Amino acid sequence: MEAECCALAGTHSRPLLLRRRASRPQPKHMALEMRAQCERCGAGLKPEGAAFVCSYECTFCPACAASMAHVCSNCGGELVPRPRRISKGSAV
Ligand SMILES: [Zn+2]
Ligand SMILES: [Zn+2]
Repeated sequence: MEAECCALAGTHSRPLLLRRRASRPQPKHMALEMRAQCERCGAGLKPEGAAFVCSYECTFCPACAASMAHVCSNCGGELVPRPRRISKGSAV
């Protein structure tokens, strides 16, 4: 029974870790979620490749965006070319 009590005490200290992590500055918060798949046809989308997104970040491949006349089929929003994320190697 004592061992179980110790284990519980151990898990109790975990929120401290989480709090420490949350207090760190999060520059990535405003970054686009770079989805890797077209939501319509499931085509693979590379961060550095062409893709279209609406303001809610619904993400589509260029072919689907064109076939939907650049109107998001999920929310009716305008689909615009997603800025490409060029990996510089040292990033991330
Ligand atoms: Zn597609
Ligand atoms: Zn949308």
